[in-house]
Parts: sequence; structure tokens; C-alpha cells
Amino acid sequence: MNESLTNWCLLPTPMAEFRMYDSGDERVRVVCLGDIKALGPDPLVRVHSSCIASEVFGSIDCDCADQLRQAMKMIAE
Ligand SMILES: [Zn+2]
Repeated sequence: MNESLTNWCLLPTPMAEFRMYDSGDERVRVVCLGDIKALGPDPLVRVHSSCIASEVFGSIDCDCADQLRQAMKMIAE
């Protein structure tokens, strides 16, 4: 694990209060439900690339934002 994953801030969402860790690379966000060091051996993981069209501007041409929300909901549950 990257040693920089010790710095984090709260990321409150409608699904849960996540932690957003500093990955040391501004292009990469690590978001975790709870303490990343306390994860079990087989955590539920979502690898996601950003889609500014749907996630920021609400475009309905793709379902990237819906997929991300569904994944966050599943992780929260
Ligand atoms: Zn998209």
C-alpha cells in the first residue's frame, strides 16, 4: 500500500460517509468506506474512470454516473 494513504478527508454522500484518501497522484482518488487499513481480505471494489459528461453535467448519453452511484450504494450496504 502506498504510504501516502494515511492522509484522508471525509466524503459525505447520500449513501454513506466515505473516506477519500490522498493517493499521492492527483489523477487517482481512493475512496473507502471506513478505514482502508481495516478492510477485510476480500473487499467489494469499484474501479472507475471519470466521465465529466454524465457525472458533472448530467448527460443521458451514457450511464457512467448511474453505475458509480450503484457501486457506491452496494459498497455502503
Ligand atoms: Zn460516460
